[in-house]
Amino acid sequence: MSARCLVGGVPIGGDAPVVVQSMTNTDTKDAVATAQQVAELAAAGSEVVRITVNNREAAARVPEIAARLRDAHGCDVPLVGDFHFNGHTLLSEFPAMAESLAKFRINPGNVGRGARHDRNFAAMIQAAIDHDRPVRIGVNAGSLDPELLDGLMEENARRADPVSGAEVLREAMVQSALSSAAAAEEIGLGHDRIVISCKVSRLPDMVAVYRDLAARCDYPLHLGLTEAGMGAKGIIATTAALSVLLEEGIGDTIRASLTPEPGGDRTIEVRTCLDILQSLGLRAFRPEVTACPGCGRTTSSVFQELAQSIQAHLDARMDAWRTERPGVVDMHVAVMGCIVNGPGESRAADIGISLPGTGEEPRAPVYVDGEKVATLEGPTLAEDFIRMVEEYVESRYAPAGNRP
Ligand code: SF4
Repeated sequence: MSARCLVGGVPIGGDAPVVVQSMTNTDTKDAVATAQQVAELAAAGSEVVRITVNNREAAARVPEIAARLRDAHGCDVPLVGDFHFNGHTLLSEFPAMAESLAKFRINPGNVGRGARHDRNFAAMIQAAIDHDRPVRIGVNAGSLDPELLDGLMEENARRADPVSGAEVLREAMVQSALSSAAAAEEIGLGHDRIVISCKVSRLPDMVAVYRDLAARCDYPLHLGLTEAGMGAKGIIATTAALSVLLEEGIGDTIRASLTPEPGGDRTIEVRTCLDILQSLGLRAFRPEVTACPGCGRTTSSVFQELAQSIQAHLDARMDAWRTERPGVVDMHVAVMGCIVNGPGESRAADIGISLPGTGEEPRAPVYVDGEKVATLEGPTLAEDFIRMVEEYVESRYAPAGNRP
């Protein structure tokens, strides 16, 4: 089991559930827009949100972002500052900024070269110690320390049985992360104040790097396939990569690095993480809806529309249920297209409906806890089923505070 690191009250590692995090893409010096997006990401389910702190203007606005979040949005999600190149300067020049952040992300490949690297890195770690904050040592293949990589490449070239360049790159990433963590501890940062990530953009490399890291240290691991890409490709690549590792018990916090459409919804990266964890059975965030894909046996779009409206209804109700009826996240609803698998899946769900396929009688049996309890038909079928789902939630999931 990994060590446990507290990030603004959110435990990462140990026996804590895998934490979902995300990152804004607003200009941090625009405090209004950044606070707004952080609040949206948190409302979507992000438990930690990272913001870039790339220059003095951005650093100066971080306390305002934290205040806006608290006062205008009622949001206390921990903020992480993402630093590259000038973090040592910003953290010393803007102590209020450092104090407003719950964690500092340090990329050891972007803190300078040679003696300057060690000095700058030490200054950032000292800031973490002074402000009593944890850090993420965040190595990235795209910004790996070239001196370390060149050294390992030369060493490999001299070997009688050299390994591939990709293997050397992976080893360099792991060494960069572990030696940086060891250096941070030597400076005085606690072992339980360090999270590690090694991000690459190819799935096989990512899986290999994290397996290696998990075998060689007990720091909590932040998983992410960096630069996963846009749309379905990015979601699928991220899901595949994270699932392999999470299924092996590797990973304590995750992020989906998806490229949004221009002006697109940033919260997709959060929903992707939630769905990955829920699909793997690691966490439950909302009721599960089983809907069949449809086929030639159902030529109408009735079941697609019903599945959609059920999902929309459950999503809309989750805000209230989360506090009023927390157990509802374990509910399983089935919306099926015809008699082939409909009754079986509906019986297996907590509440399910089996809609009529082409040529079947236009009647839809409803099953509750495995028993057929009603048959719906007619134009109010969708509303009637949603009402039954509401009644099921009322009767089955006790109000918060009344749970055994
Ligand atoms: S349940 Fe019926 S409609 Fe749905 S995929 Fe199976 S056979 Fe097709």
